[in-house]
Amino acid sequence: MITNRPLPQTWDLTSYFPTFDGPSYRVFRAALAADLKTQLARATALAALSPAPGSARDWAAAFVGWEDLIVRLTHFSSYLGCLSAADSASEAYQAEEAALSMLAAEESKVKTQLLRGLRPADDAAFAALLAEPALAGASHLVKRFRAEAVYQMDAAQEALASDLGVDGFKAWSRLYDTMTGKMSFEMTFPDGRKETVPMAQRRALMTNPDRAIRQTAFVEGNKVWSAAGDACAAAINALAGTRHTLYARRGRGHFLAAPLHDAALDQGTLDAMFAAIAENYALPRKIMQIGARLQGTPALAWYDLEAPRPLDPLPEISWEDGIAMVQDAFDSAYPRLGDYFRDSVRRRWLEGEKRANKRSGAFCTGSSLTREERIYMTFNGTVGDVVTLAHEAGHAWHSHVLGTLRPIARDYPMTLAETASTFAEKILVHGLLSAKGMTPARRAFLLDMETNHMPAYLLNIPVRFLFERRFYEERKSGVVSVSRLCELMSQAQQEVYGPALDAESCDPWFWASKLHFFISDVSFYNFPYTFGFLLSQALFTQFRRDGAAFLPKYESFLAATGSASCEDAVRSTLGWDIRQKEFWAEAIAGCGGSVEEFEAAIQARAGK
Ligand SMILES: [Zn+2]
Repeated sequence: MITNRPLPQTWDLTSYFPTFDGPSYRVFRAALAADLKTQLARATALAALSPAPGSARDWAAAFVGWEDLIVRLTHFSSYLGCLSAADSASEAYQAEEAALSMLAAEESKVKTQLLRGLRPADDAAFAALLAEPALAGASHLVKRFRAEAVYQMDAAQEALASDLGVDGFKAWSRLYDTMTGKMSFEMTFPDGRKETVPMAQRRALMTNPDRAIRQTAFVEGNKVWSAAGDACAAAINALAGTRHTLYARRGRGHFLAAPLHDAALDQGTLDAMFAAIAENYALPRKIMQIGARLQGTPALAWYDLEAPRPLDPLPEISWEDGIAMVQDAFDSAYPRLGDYFRDSVRRRWLEGEKRANKRSGAFCTGSSLTREERIYMTFNGTVGDVVTLAHEAGHAWHSHVLGTLRPIARDYPMTLAETASTFAEKILVHGLLSAKGMTPARRAFLLDMETNHMPAYLLNIPVRFLFERRFYEERKSGVVSVSRLCELMSQAQQEVYGPALDAESCDPWFWASKLHFFISDVSFYNFPYTFGFLLSQALFTQFRRDGAAFLPKYESFLAATGSASCEDAVRSTLGWDIRQKEFWAEAIAGCGGSVEEFEAAIQARAGK
């Protein structure tokens, strides 16, 4: 269905507040600030008397009070996030966002007090708390709070660690950001033109169709990273060293325990997943070999990983046609999702206009207060933009499905965050592939886009995980040198990519240039991506097998994502055991079909 009726490209935010900084906005903000103060005083007083059987009701009320703050705070931050993304030049929005971060800091103090009170609670007191009717449907979160609380030092030590962290732990991360934000390198273009290029543009140059440009950006960029090697090594060693010290003081046995807690995942499940991937490197490597063949080289170099394939992209797509493509795919595969998407378009929950002062990127946000979602992106007319629209619509649908639950049962871990979005993406791509008028050339283009996820999630992310894990292991016995960091990184790349990567051209400096290794808030910012990719692949394979009969199960899984560990959410709704390596091997095998289709499309395209 192609529509000619123009559709609005900007969203309507008036259900958040009729006007920015208007009377109702101000009343809302003032009440929130006052209630944060009240709740903080209440939680602090309670924390002094940890949950005892007699105080369970007061404690439950403190949790409910905190839940209410979270709901209002996210309503407020979602609104400001929408406004400032859509007009990044506005100083008024920026000032309000700064004020919001002060409110958010107050909320985290309330949470700290709740944790502090839970820490000494014995099993009987904790059971009494969970039995409180006011906490019905919230036990998963309260249990997670308790698990977090157990691994805390006493309040004074935690306060000291957090104060020192500003000039220590977090300072290394800031130093890295400041230093690398100012980096540039000398670029010589094939026509002889020389230019000093900011490091931030290197990634774009590495996606240039001209291999010589990619290679120069890679080689010249790495000269700069190598010059900064000592500073980067000092930062990564200090971050990991501080974590080791804090984990030891907090009684955390393993450096993966905290990231696994955040991911709501067991170590055994993680190990099973990576073991299955290691046994199946051949499949994603095959995609790389197809890429090398298309490019006319024996193997891909590191600087070819994000190179565009010489395939024919689809012609430019209008906003209306992009929406119609998503709508048609959803309607025919998943009518309930289609109805929801139609409603989102009708109620103007989408912002896609191409204009100045919009922040780049795409996101989905929403308010638990109004139970509405919003999708933000800039629609440039490529098929990639249509995929992004479907992706964000998948996130919105996930929030919608969770919307019937109490607010603190809607908070899912990063591991489960991308399942609904990837699932929606796959519905779109498979819908497009079976649409009428698909030429082999267009099929090849779409399947390239689809299969390219495999080397990214099944090779590139495992490299990051292997490197980080080995580095944290070695860091236990002392500082890891620059040359050893480079060696660990090269080894991981050769091991995982194998013959699919030109052995001469791996990237020993990837540990320095990848920002993810330097984030102070989170470590191992890698495995949740691969987990989400494979889980959604397993879901989609099952959907293709069972058809519409699978969808109620799928929705109950989405609804469980904020109320259980990954293992339990999957087992209780889908009946799968993700602790088993076989589950992951089967999920990987599910990707195999599109590899075959891709090869066939390339042959058909060449033969036409
Ligand atoms: Zn996403």
